Amino acid sequence: MIRIYNTLTKKKEEFKPIEDGKVRMYVCGPTVYNFIHIGNARPMIVFDTVRRYFEYKGYEVNYVSNFTDVDDKIIKKAIEEGISADEVAERYIAECQKDMAAMNVMPATTHPRATQEIGGMIEMISKLIEDGYAYEKNGTVYFRTRKFKEYGKLSHKNLDDLRSGNRSLLVTGEDEKEDPLDFVLWKPKKEGEPAWESPWSDGRPGWHIECSVMSKKYLGTSIDIHAGGEDLVFPHHENEIAQSEAYSGEPFSNYWMHNAFLNIDRVKMSKSAGNFFTVREISEKYDLRILRFFMLSSHYRSPLEFDREQMEAAEAGLGRITNAYENLKDRAANNKSESMSEAEKEQIPEVEAFVSKFETAMDDDFNTADAEAAIFDLVRYANKEVDAESSKEFAGFVADTLKKLSDVLGLVIEVEKEDIDSEIEALIAERQAARKNKDFARADEIRNELLSRGIILKDTREGVKWSRA
Ligand code: AMP
Ligand code: ZN
Repeated sequence: MIRIYNTLTKKKEEFKPIEDGKVRMYVCGPTVYNFIHIGNARPMIVFDTVRRYFEYKGYEVNYVSNFTDVDDKIIKKAIEEGISADEVAERYIAECQKDMAAMNVMPATTHPRATQEIGGMIEMISKLIEDGYAYEKNGTVYFRTRKFKEYGKLSHKNLDDLRSGNRSLLVTGEDEKEDPLDFVLWKPKKEGEPAWESPWSDGRPGWHIECSVMSKKYLGTSIDIHAGGEDLVFPHHENEIAQSEAYSGEPFSNYWMHNAFLNIDRVKMSKSAGNFFTVREISEKYDLRILRFFMLSSHYRSPLEFDREQMEAAEAGLGRITNAYENLKDRAANNKSESMSEAEKEQIPEVEAFVSKFETAMDDDFNTADAEAAIFDLVRYANKEVDAESSKEFAGFVADTLKKLSDVLGLVIEVEKEDIDSEIEALIAERQAARKNKDFARADEIRNELLSRGIILKDTREGVKWSRA
């Protein structure tokens, strides 16, 4: 039984799908005006892992994640570069997809783009106006929040406080709103902006309506899970609920999941604050498999502090799993004895206990930190219990179990053999250079690291040769 913390009810609840064996899931995607930063990568990695776990449990997952490809920031970038907004969006969608692939984030079932769904948005807005949930003023259409009685149910905010707070924040031009909490569904274009024809003005949709429309089109009126970073709870997701439920009269999403922030010095990483690293920058220093391992080393609802030490720890951790797996596969291929002995057969439940521990962690609101710990327990067990005397079959069984669990977290532990060999050769070359420079401490450190990975060095007349223990 999978339990999910639901922002709507503020409780962990048993997951019950709308349709048996199927999950309909929508994850709000990035606004594509630049390279994504590693804060944006957190929801991508976290919810991709949620999806993988559902699939591992036998669910068929329809996973939809949009690209917001029309927005003030995209238009600003286009003007700066003297190209069209389309070109900006197209470029950064392609870059984002490259980053996702490198983080082993599976492509969504559908990646809709806002600009290709304008017709559906006009239709939804028209019906909201007809039903009294929206009104037009000078070409702008607003949602009438007072009319939607449950407004505020997701963010659990005190609306009267918000109203009085927002009243003083109204910007020029917004005094035409009936209520300070009313939000834009459609706005007229300004000179030089991309625009679409509509019954109200040539213009473009508001951000919130895009997700309501794309979720409905690709997943249906009611869905199982809607997700994103916790900054989206209010107003974005609150507004999506208002629009979608006012439109259909049905519940929009049964479970609402929100990841906490990735921070730097305890401050949310963001483009506007300038305290960010792009995924691309990080990829120059670390394999992005390590970034993924790091992201999953804490629970998705806990704030996560990004720092170099944690990344080094993640690198070492993933290295330990990869090594154990390589050794297991080596034993499964080269050991002498073929099939499991009676004693090994009796050890099967011990191995399966690690799988149960892993599943218990993931069933509990996707506790990937504990799931990674279960994988480490299995690695420790494998390093101790599988050796040259083990049968090929038993070594293979432990290897497959390790691979199966790592796959659920999207951790790539199978490294191309050439990659490992060239990594080892690079270390050996570095050790030779250290010796030449009389940096014996570094030379010993490298020898020990290689030893811990089961690599034995031998000095010969033709140079240093290496072999696996
Ligand atoms: P944006 O492009 O700003 O709309 O963000 C895309 C996604 O990344 C949303 O789900 C945000 O909530 C999420 N996000 C942005 N910054 C962070 C951060 N520092 N930590 C975690 N998630 C973030
Ligand atoms: Zn959204």
